[in-house]
Amino acid sequence: MSKSPINPAAFAVLDLPAVAHNLAVVRQHAPAAKVMAVIKANGYGHGLTRIAQALEAADGFAVARVDEGVRLRKAGISQRIAVLEGFTRSEELDLLLQYQLDALIHSPSQLPLIAAHQGQAEIAVWLKMDSGMNRLGFKPDAFADAYQSLLACPLVKQPINVMTHLANADDLGHAMTLQQIDLFNQAVQNLPGERSIANSAGILGWTQALADWVRPGVMLYGISPFPDKTAADFGLKPIMSLHSRLISVKQLAVGDSVGYGASWVCQQATTMGIVAIGYGDGYPRYAKVGTPVLVNGKRVPLIGRVSMDMVTVDLASQPEAEAGDPVTLWGDTLPVEEIAACADTIPYTLVCGITQRVQIVEGSVLGSVFG
Ligand SMILES: *Cc1c(COP(=O)(O)O)cnc(C)c1O
Repeated sequence: MSKSPINPAAFAVLDLPAVAHNLAVVRQHAPAAKVMAVIKANGYGHGLTRIAQALEAADGFAVARVDEGVRLRKAGISQRIAVLEGFTRSEELDLLLQYQLDALIHSPSQLPLIAAHQGQAEIAVWLKMDSGMNRLGFKPDAFADAYQSLLACPLVKQPINVMTHLANADDLGHAMTLQQIDLFNQAVQNLPGERSIANSAGILGWTQALADWVRPGVMLYGISPFPDKTAADFGLKPIMSLHSRLISVKQLAVGDSVGYGASWVCQQATTMGIVAIGYGDGYPRYAKVGTPVLVNGKRVPLIGRVSMDMVTVDLASQPEAEAGDPVTLWGDTLPVEEIAACADTIPYTLVCGITQRVQIVEGSVLGSVFG
């Protein structure tokens, strides 16, 4: 638990020991694979170095950008770190070499850069195949040539590792995933390097995708990658819960409208609560009327539009609630997956979107926070 006084408004509680638990769940599903924990985007909003330290038992890490890898090295992280977006300029190659980060090779434009680069050390690489995602990577027919040109680069550490990314693994009935795995396996079957295919949905849903390294992201944070399943279905423990307090309680009469656009109009006299959290904290602007919010641990519906610093809730079921009472926006008995569905988004965007002014509190016992 952080020793600093807790911000009475928006704060996020992080259950860091649960990160190691979630890593153990990954290992149960992929006992023979090494784990490259994906901690891009500030550890999915939970804090880059904080999550890396909580994942001491991971075999390696993956980040999106070079600067994220450099930050991890400067924080003393010694495991292997793959930079998923690789490099586009030779200055970035210098940093990859200096900080001994693994580079993704995903685009023809990178090949002449790495061929021409001078360096003392060797650089470990992952050659990426585009097996159907149509984002980064070499198509199967261009993959062998790219592999050959890397073989000829003195800078490139051998053997070259190979990777692909699944586009649809969260849809367990979709034929595309096995097609992607087959395309990849055919192209890499005689190559000596290590292989990696699976994200969280691949790990939990497709044993064919496990290969040498798995790349879990969202499941490490205790979030289900499948829209129709919860973290609890897999024994995953959520890391982040988001909290605030009521700052005002008032009575509404029939016909009163609430908030910007006066879009919500009171049909039946009720008690309303105003909560000190809004989209300026990362609560989703498009959370619909009726989105559940916990006030004093019990569900009440959101009413009106989400504003920058506040949201409003209907306290008809809790007219005795008062300013200062605890509010939970997600976490506890309110899965972030459910809030994402109410805002027409995915839980990834919610945890990634927590803003700077949300105070981070490390500790698993929420009761002591609200004390
Ligand atoms: C983000 C990412 C992952 C992790 O995906 P999750 O769905 O969060 O498990 C794995 N691999 C690549 C290439 C990624 O970009």
